[in-house]
Amino acid sequence: MTTATQADAAGRVNYEFTHTINGKAETSKTSFDVINPATATAFAQCPDATKIQLNRAVASARRAFPGWAKKSFEDRRAYLHKFAEAVRERSEELAALITREQGKPLSNALREMAGTANSLEQMANIELKDEVLRDDGKNRISMHFRPMGVVGAITPWNVPVGLASHKIAQALYAGNTLVLKPSPYTPLSTLLLGEISRDILPRGVFNVVGGGNAVGQWLTKHQGIDKISFTGSVATGKRVMESSSGTLKRVTLELGGNDPAIMLDDVDIAGATAKIFNGAFGNCGQICMAVKRVYVPEDLYEPVLEEFAKLARNHRVGEGFEPDVQMGPLQNKMQYDKVLDVLEDTKKQPGVRIVAGGHPLNRPGYFLEPTIVGDIGDDTRLVTEEQFGPILPVLKYKDLKDAVARANDTTMGLGASVWTKDLEKGAKVAAQIQAGTVWINHHVGSEPDVPFGGFKQSGLGREHGVMGLQAYMEPQIINVPVPAQ
Ligand code: NDP
Repeated sequence: MTTATQADAAGRVNYEFTHTINGKAETSKTSFDVINPATATAFAQCPDATKIQLNRAVASARRAFPGWAKKSFEDRRAYLHKFAEAVRERSEELAALITREQGKPLSNALREMAGTANSLEQMANIELKDEVLRDDGKNRISMHFRPMGVVGAITPWNVPVGLASHKIAQALYAGNTLVLKPSPYTPLSTLLLGEISRDILPRGVFNVVGGGNAVGQWLTKHQGIDKISFTGSVATGKRVMESSSGTLKRVTLELGGNDPAIMLDDVDIAGATAKIFNGAFGNCGQICMAVKRVYVPEDLYEPVLEEFAKLARNHRVGEGFEPDVQMGPLQNKMQYDKVLDVLEDTKKQPGVRIVAGGHPLNRPGYFLEPTIVGDIGDDTRLVTEEQFGPILPVLKYKDLKDAVARANDTTMGLGASVWTKDLEKGAKVAAQIQAGTVWINHHVGSEPDVPFGGFKQSGLGREHGVMGLQAYMEPQIINVPVPAQ
């Protein structure tokens, strides 16, 4: 029997991946190539959903909604825990597929799968309580949270199953049903996730639809969808909001970041650079909350730069299945070209120093050396744009106030970090940074019970935790007059 991860001698996976619509497998008349970014060649096919198929998925989610919404949180928790268990059992298979379609090292893909099972389980453990707002003898006013209806989720290609799991857990635990559309660059692991769900969840509760063109727009414009949850670029996030406005859909947007890491003058150089390096180059820099800029006190600048350069030179880049590999290729040609373009622009800057890396690898696939850039101006593309790739600018500062102002001088505000031995001072600096999450002495992390999202154009609303869950529900006020005694 062919499995979803078994590749032939040419690296092709001859498995028929299917949509999950109303709890059943569906194919489409047409399909498109899915590319392995480590070889830049197609290795499998994704069915390309038609509008009729998407409409069927939405209709099945609508039909399933009343029954699912009526179940208790405990019942829905039990379903999600069962789903988490099934995912755990198939995690090696899913991880291998993620490595093949996304490019990340297998060890990282396995971590993504552990995180997926954990999210499905932990988000469904959150207690959502009704609140009494006023009980003053005249009125008893309480607030309750009700499921919204059908959620449409659009997920990206950097952490395909991990990010999908957040939306699945929140949407379903809150009592909604779901139509999920994975990125056309990495659809297969999510289609397999849908396949696994068929034996566990009631029909129509969770639909997965693969598609190349326009499926995302059909979803955001669809009359039968009540809420959109999107993770991706700022530009597309704005379009999602625009097309959702027709039916006033609720939207949660988790968009990009240009996260600064600020080292203070008492920093432990070796410890901090190692952690910042991982925060910047994990997943080949393709993480919304990756470190995208580092600010270093003038006196420490050269030793810090040299430490980063050493780490970059020793970082093992290769195909995700190669043993001990630490960083894979960029995920797709569009992103590879975009990052190369930023690199070319960087090299043209007067006085700039490329202290490590700076070149593509001499092999097929979208590989780029981990690159450390020193002496670069604040107004360059590498500093002002989200590079979303393995190039890190290291910037010098004289005065901490100035560093904070430069860190805040961006339209983004997803994450940030402060690096110091003085935790109290670190917390004071953190409070001045305009970002949804500020870490002290670490960077990058996503926890099921901690709200996550951005200031400014990094997004709208929060995911995770009570706040995230409430964003998948409508608050309802029940106002009861208390009869006179
Ligand atoms: P985008 O964020 O631009 O999103 C593409 C997805 O959005 C596709 O699935 C597409 O589906 C859908 N889409 C496009 N237009 C609409 C619309 N009007 N309504 C609804 N859905 C729509 O991803 P890209 O792959 O183009 O990446 C571009 C940049 O995004 C990267 O360079 C990176 O900077 C950033 N990014 C950020 C991520 C994050 O985690 N925040 C993750 C990945 C990328 P369809 O084609 O079916 O319409």
